[in-house]
This record gives sequence, structure tokens and C-alpha cells, in this order.
Amino acid sequence: MTIRNPTLCYYLYIQLLVFHMHKLIIIGSGPAGLSAAIYGSRAELKPLVIAGSKPGGQLMDTTDVENFPGFVSIKGPELMQKIRDQAESFGTKFIDGDVTKADFSSQPFRLWVGDKEFQTQSVIVATGAQAMWLGLPNEQRLRGAGVSACATCDGFFFKGKEVAIVGGGDTAMEEANFLTKFATKVTIVHRKEVFKASKIMQERVLANPKITIRWNSEVEDVLGEDTVTGLKLKDTKTGEVTDFHCQGLFLAIGHKPSTDVFKGQLEVDSHGFIVVRDFTKTNIEGIFAAGDVHDPRYRQASVAAGFGVMALLDAEKYLAAQ
Ligand code: NDP
Repeated sequence: MTIRNPTLCYYLYIQLLVFHMHKLIIIGSGPAGLSAAIYGSRAELKPLVIAGSKPGGQLMDTTDVENFPGFVSIKGPELMQKIRDQAESFGTKFIDGDVTKADFSSQPFRLWVGDKEFQTQSVIVATGAQAMWLGLPNEQRLRGAGVSACATCDGFFFKGKEVAIVGGGDTAMEEANFLTKFATKVTIVHRKEVFKASKIMQERVLANPKITIRWNSEVEDVLGEDTVTGLKLKDTKTGEVTDFHCQGLFLAIGHKPSTDVFKGQLEVDSHGFIVVRDFTKTNIEGIFAAGDVHDPRYRQASVAAGFGVMALLDAEKYLAAQ
């Protein structure tokens, strides 16, 4: 019998996945989740990926990617589609929805996407993290046109230009130093008159002649029609607003990992990142974490892909021992 109604086909597909006891469910479809899926399907674990309501992760919001091995230059969404196609070609199944509830209190682990419940023997959490933004309308309009939240990814595009970076933590310090490889001048805009960053990172910044600091300053607006031409900066002490010339704005004001749905079950640090021990293991046996959801440090697509592979190999070992 051939079923020709696509809605009915999709319904039956979901029902099959709901009633199936999965060996492995991967939550998230960024580089970490999809790399785990490629390895998992080739290891015949028949993984189900719960891909999120906005599948593909942070690279879906990126224009040119020039630092993912194998591609001299590729658009972020195209790269993610290729990796997903690769996972699908080996038999990975996908649900494009968000995990709305999780119960990791006993085996089998239970996950819900709306009213659909899925059961599984092991889980890889690869839900990623979101860069925090200032929330200014022009900041969003000029994303990819001079505004970026990743200096490691986009610094290369600012050769010979003047840029500003917002933040006072370790990321801002590290990225300000990194940007001086390309930019002629880097200005750190920080809302206070002390940095939150570790002493050693601060010292490196203060010793770098290409970096200047605008203390007690907030970005009020990003200027420019097609690309960034400057900022409106407000002095938090005097309230004075001045125009500041630059061609790039980097945000380094923190990342928010997507871990809310696992609250109270998976151990997280003070920023909400999953705490791992022995590489990818969480506090619950059989549940592994991969990528930016546990990595506030490297936050690179290729690093996340590597973490995905590590988590899969650990999950495979765990399943084999069951
Ligand atoms: P943090 O949360 O440590 O710092 C965020 C910074 O952004 C703070 O200075 C904060 O200001 C500022 N900020 C937050 N919101 C706003 C806003 N709306 N407007 C203006 N400024 C804002 O994040 P990081 O990404 O720097 O670091 C995250 C973690 O990763 C930390 O534990 C850090 O140590 C670690 N890390 C370690 C590295 C290393 O060891 N090499 C490298 C990078 C990160 P305020 O100071 O006023 O709160």
C-alpha cells in the first residue's frame, strides 16, 4: 500500500518514532549534534535528532564561514544543510521541534516535544548557546555587515579597519587582543570603570598599544546604512552622548546556553553551562553533553563538531556496556 497524503505520512512517521524505544536521542542540530548523528548512524545506533524549532544552530545566522575544514568559503546555512544531509544519508531521523520537557530521573529517559513523548536509553545534549546582544534595532539590522558576536570567526574581515568591542569579561579581553592582528585600532567599550576579566587577561589588554578603552560607556546606537560607520556612545557618568567612528562592532557580553529545560536535573555552572566530567559525561549516567552548551571557552563550530564526535563515542561505549 502506498500512502500519498504527506500530512498522514508525517503523522505516521512521528507515531513510529514516539512508539519506538530509542537507543540514542541527540538534542540539537548544530555542528555538535549533527556530527554526533553522523557517527551515531554509521555506528548503527539509529539516532533520533530533536533538531529544535530553528534547526541548524548559530551558523544559520552567519553569512560567510571560512574556517570550517573542507570549505574555503561557504554560507552558514548551506554548511548546516550539507551536514544535515550527510547525517540523513546514513539514516538519522529528525524531528524539527524543541524539547519542552525532560525526565532523566530513571531509565528509560523521557523527552517531550509538545505532547509527543520519546523514550531513549541515552541522550546527547547539544543544544548550544546564544550570544547575548545589546538589543538595539540597528545592531540587528547590521549583523553580518560590520556587527558580529564572534571575533574569532569574523576578525579576518576587518583588516586595516577600526573596530570597537563591548564587554569587560575574559571574552572581551581575549577577542580585543585577537582583533589587533587585523584591525588598526581596537576600542573596548565598557559600562563600568573596572573590568570583570581575570587579572592576567586585563594586563595583556592594557599592555597592547593598539587597544584603547572607553570606560563608563554604553552603546546607544549603531550608525551606518549598509555597513557600520560608527557608534553613538553614552557616558554613563555624565550622560553625554558622542559619535564614535569605527567600521566594526563586536559584542562580547556573554553567551546564554540553552539549558533551561534541563534545570534541576543536569548540573550546570553559574552561567548555566552544563558541567562535564571525564570529557563529555554529565552528572547523570547515560546523558552526555557536546558543544557550546558546555563550552564557554572555544565556541567554534569545528570544536563543537569534535565534541559531538567525542560524546557519540562515549555514548556508544555506554550503550555497549548496558
Ligand atoms: P562574562 O559574563 O564573564 O562577562 C560579560 C561582560 O559583558 C561583563 O563585563 C559585563 O559587564 C558585560 N555586559 C553584560 N551585559 C552587558 C550589556 N547589556 N551591556 C554592556 N555590557 C554588558 O562573559 P564572558 O563571555 O567574558 O566569559 C564567560 C566565561 O567564560 C567566564 O567564566 C570567563 O572566565 C570564561 N572565559 C575564559 C577564557 C579563558 O580562560 N581564556 C576566555 C573567554 C571566556 P559587567 O562587568 O558590568 O557585568
